[in-house]
Amino acid sequence: MKLGVVGCAGRMGRMLLAEIGATPGCAIGGGTEQPGHAAIGGDAGALAGLEAVGIAVGDDPRALFEACDGVIDFTAPAVTVAHAELAAGTGTAHVIGTTGLDAAQEAQLAESAKTAPILYAPNMSVGVALVARLTELAAASLGPEFDIEVLEMHHRHKVDAPSGTALALGKAAAAGRGIDLEANADRVRDGQTGPRGEGRIGFATLRGGEVIGEHTVIFAGAGERIEIAHKAGDRRLFASGAVRAALWLRGKPSGLYSIQDTLAAS
Ligand code: NAD
Repeated sequence: MKLGVVGCAGRMGRMLLAEIGATPGCAIGGGTEQPGHAAIGGDAGALAGLEAVGIAVGDDPRALFEACDGVIDFTAPAVTVAHAELAAGTGTAHVIGTTGLDAAQEAQLAESAKTAPILYAPNMSVGVALVARLTELAAASLGPEFDIEVLEMHHRHKVDAPSGTALALGKAAAAGRGIDLEANADRVRDGQTGPRGEGRIGFATLRGGEVIGEHTVIFAGAGERIEIAHKAGDRRLFASGAVRAALWLRGKPSGLYSIQDTLAAS
């Protein structure tokens, strides 16, 4: 499967190129960066520390979508939405790991997925997909007397908060409780907040150093506390999950898929 990487000089982008190069059945189909980026013109394989593949990093995503069987995208929300429109135009499989999309941008992805297979996962880890399932189960099993809090920590470079994974875990908890997350989330607390509202789902965000990604869902009751936690120890885990998702997406009909869909089939 010929796979391209948009944003290929980013932290995840380089790792994705390396993972594609190391995965049997996959080949690097090219990479793009934003216009003016220093990586443009350099060899896509060399950028990832591999042998040269004879394909220069470009700045034309349309050409990349046309040339590849699938494109992997860990960039930024507005850029990702524009890429999904290109996927819709070419029918190319599009694997999206970008986080921080708002509801309108997610609706645009769903629109593009009418004419292309698109997999959108704020976290590509199988472990996190399992934690989401366990969270939903725990929320469904424990009554509203258990307060739900989602705590996350990431490296200092992260630009969105709470993390896409924290929000996905909040959504899983809300689904377990049969409530809407948006209407019940406390995403930030500051100053005279008053006591905690029953049934609310709280978020707390930590940023610092080079922490790859840590999430804990806490169910705090009167005399006991349950914690479900996941710690990512190597960013490569997200890259291998994304390449596996791309292989899974190959030949699928148009539609918007999640990482949970790939688990159900395995
Ligand atoms: P990064 O800033 O290192 O990389 C983003 C890259 O995208 C940069 O190289 C940037 O130049 C490039 N870019 C921006 N605009 C572009 C354009 N128009 N065309 C082509 N390239 C463009 O960030 P990162 O740490 O690699 O993370 C990227 C995204 O992936 C973030 O949203 C992050 O939260 C998310 N992420 C998701 C997962 C997951 O499992 N789903 C894991 C890690 C990171």
